[in-house]
Amino acid sequence: MKIKENYSLQELNTFKIDVKSKYFIEIENESDLKEIVKEYKSKGEKILLLGGGSNILFTKDFDGLVVHLITKGIDIVSQDDDSVLIDCKAGEEWDEVVQFAVNNEYYGIENLSLIPGTIGAAPIQNIGAYGAELKDVFYSLDGFYTADLVEKSFSLGESEFGYRDSIFKSELKDKFIITSVKLRLSKEKNFKLNYRDLADLNKLRKNITIKKVRDHIIKVRESKLPNPKVIGNAGSFYKNPEISAKQLTNLIDQNPDLPYFKSPDRKIKLPAGWLIEQCGWKGKREGDVASYHRQALIIINYGNATSQSILNFTQEIKDSVISKFGIELETEVNFY
Ligand SMILES: Cc1cc2nc3c(=O)[nH]c(=O)nc-3n(C[C@H](O)[C@H](O)[C@H](O)COP(=O)(O)OP(=O)(O)OC[C@H]3O[C@@H](n4cnc5c(N)ncnc54)[C@H](O)[C@@H]3O)c2cc1C
Repeated sequence: MKIKENYSLQELNTFKIDVKSKYFIEIENESDLKEIVKEYKSKGEKILLLGGGSNILFTKDFDGLVVHLITKGIDIVSQDDDSVLIDCKAGEEWDEVVQFAVNNEYYGIENLSLIPGTIGAAPIQNIGAYGAELKDVFYSLDGFYTADLVEKSFSLGESEFGYRDSIFKSELKDKFIITSVKLRLSKEKNFKLNYRDLADLNKLRKNITIKKVRDHIIKVRESKLPNPKVIGNAGSFYKNPEISAKQLTNLIDQNPDLPYFKSPDRKIKLPAGWLIEQCGWKGKREGDVASYHRQALIIINYGNATSQSILNFTQEIKDSVISKFGIELETEVNFY
């Protein structure tokens, strides 16, 4: 195990922010992980678990140990005629897991194709896209508390999943390390194609295959979202706000074309990208920070944006949405 000091994290966060960590280590196996956490905790150092760095905005240098988890492996735990239970090491790339499922015709995560990052981080914000969420296939996860290294498995109920949320993003944020995740995938075809962008696929319903769904979603995502390998970004910067039925009625009075949708848990949501666009931000650039021209909700770094310039820019966005619609946007990205 090799600890590096004063280590640049620029290539390890998709926003491409140029910060350094006091200490840095890459971890390939779980026993090393526990050992290193124990050692640095006893020295009183802060610890940050880093997966793909695709949901993080570093606001300053990290004064502690950054652990880049790259443990790999996807194993079948059990299966019957209807479903299969797979166990994935936390450092496995999320999209590799989707590819594995698609290759084997295991249904349930094809709509989540091409989401960047690791499977270890997927439960943190209950990743979701195109009408599917991690929690729909989540079985359990294993990990340990950083304070005392005590191991614990979390079931679906204990994980308290919500919209881009879980117990690991709230109460246990930076207190629990996820080492592996189990998913139960179906062997029966059961596609979720109600999302607007999937309408073309829905027409083909009879001839649809899991591979066609994955390919279509990759195509849609590539046409709408900036590739973080080319343009720095961390996906949606804000969550879609939830509002009450009364708020909706009032807002529609003033904005008759206001789009809204009901989430599976029957909550009313507004597309944050639309609200931002209505305030004139779509495609707007200040220095090297901008709102992406195809999706206002994505904030991009053209190259030399600092975290401060991103914070200033996104605060201006937030203020203008409050003053135009009276709605306070909540960030989806994790700040460090
Ligand atoms: C272009 C783009 C598109 C995106 N599209 C979507 C989308 O459609 N849907 C969606 O939900 N998200 C999306 N995201 C956000 C992001 O991909 C997900 O949130 C992803 O799960 C983050 O994984 P990561 O490994 O990069 O996490 P990181 O950014 O490395 O970490 C995120 C948080 O999780 C913690 N963490 C990471 N690994 C562990 C672990 N093993 N144990 C404990 N804590 C851990 C970190 O400490 C941090 O707090 C997108 C991002 C980008 C850049």
